[in-house]
Amino acid sequence: MQVPLLDLKAQYDQIRDEIEPVLRRVVESQYFILGPEVEGLEEEIAAYVGTPTAIGCASGTDALLLPLMALDPEPGDEVILPAFTFFATAGAVWNAGFTPVFCDIDPHTFNVTRESLEAVWSDRTRAVIPVHLFGQMAPMEEILPLAAEHGAVVIEDCAQAIGARRERGDDSVMAGAWGEIGAFSFFPTKNLGGFGDGGIVTALDETLADAVAKLRVHGGRQMYHHEMVGTNSRLDALQAAILRVKLRHLDRWTEGRRKNACRYHGGLDEVDETDLPEVLDGNVHVYNQFTIRARERDRLREHLAERGIGSGIYYPVPLHLQACFSELGGREGQLPESESACRDVLSLPIFPELGEARVDRVIDEIRSFYGH
Ligand SMILES: *Cc1c(COP(=O)(O)O)cnc(C)c1O
Repeated sequence: MQVPLLDLKAQYDQIRDEIEPVLRRVVESQYFILGPEVEGLEEEIAAYVGTPTAIGCASGTDALLLPLMALDPEPGDEVILPAFTFFATAGAVWNAGFTPVFCDIDPHTFNVTRESLEAVWSDRTRAVIPVHLFGQMAPMEEILPLAAEHGAVVIEDCAQAIGARRERGDDSVMAGAWGEIGAFSFFPTKNLGGFGDGGIVTALDETLADAVAKLRVHGGRQMYHHEMVGTNSRLDALQAAILRVKLRHLDRWTEGRRKNACRYHGGLDEVDETDLPEVLDGNVHVYNQFTIRARERDRLREHLAERGIGSGIYYPVPLHLQACFSELGGREGQLPESESACRDVLSLPIFPELGEARVDRVIDEIRSFYGH
């Protein structure tokens, strides 16, 4: 029995009959960029996340880049982000003209905390990017007051966390509806994935939303009139139409991921050589990845691969030690929790269509590797 890390075909098989007419509709309309499908998706995502506005764009990377550009940095202005995240978070900060400042993570949730941000805060800090890594929200109720005290903007990196929620009072609030800005990716492997690249920005702040809407079309709402220098970062109508179909299934797929996670916990909880993902009180985790920490990680990964089981290492190198940022002076030992996570994380198959038998097979092979 083969167990791939991800199987997008299994998902497409379920929705083929809904997708095909929608593709035909867009092709027949010959309206390919922005337009009614994108506006429809923007309204539906804003309603889903719980923000007044959403603005479609070309990728998750651009969903970070455009709001950062809207902050119009002076040289030396800083943005704080975790050292343990996908590269795009840092790339967007750099490309917008900010200096990235890397902070450490909580070893149990892989997310930033108020303390980890405070440790690197400076009077040049203009914004912070809490990344809701692997599908679990960072403790926003600690982060928002810290940012507010210093007048910094909070941009949530929600690329892996669409549908994730966190308790606030008697309520629960979705990822992307806490900070001024939420940045989402529709890359095919995300929980809501298109048939290509795509992204969306959610916004509580109207001024920033307006700037993002301009920046994605070369900096002006009116054609040939440019208030600022933006870029081309538009969402395709085809992607939007596909995503509108898939959004209707998202909560069911999320439940599938959560069920798989629950089964892994049942089978691996007492295996001392592994640490399973810890869910912070008040969080609903959506498991874009099910990432464990494992003793002899590389040997375990090989053992699984030899038995037809896929796994992934997200991420092998922390951002402060990436060659492209060497001029920032990052050094080994600087952010010990991020560095340690890079050495022992392993992501296991978690996609909704996985099924109990294949989860059990992964559990059995991990147990037998450690001699249980
Ligand atoms: C995927 C991802 C992005 C970038 O999204 P793209 O659509 O691939 O540009 C940014 N941040 C994180 C944490 C991601 O996982």
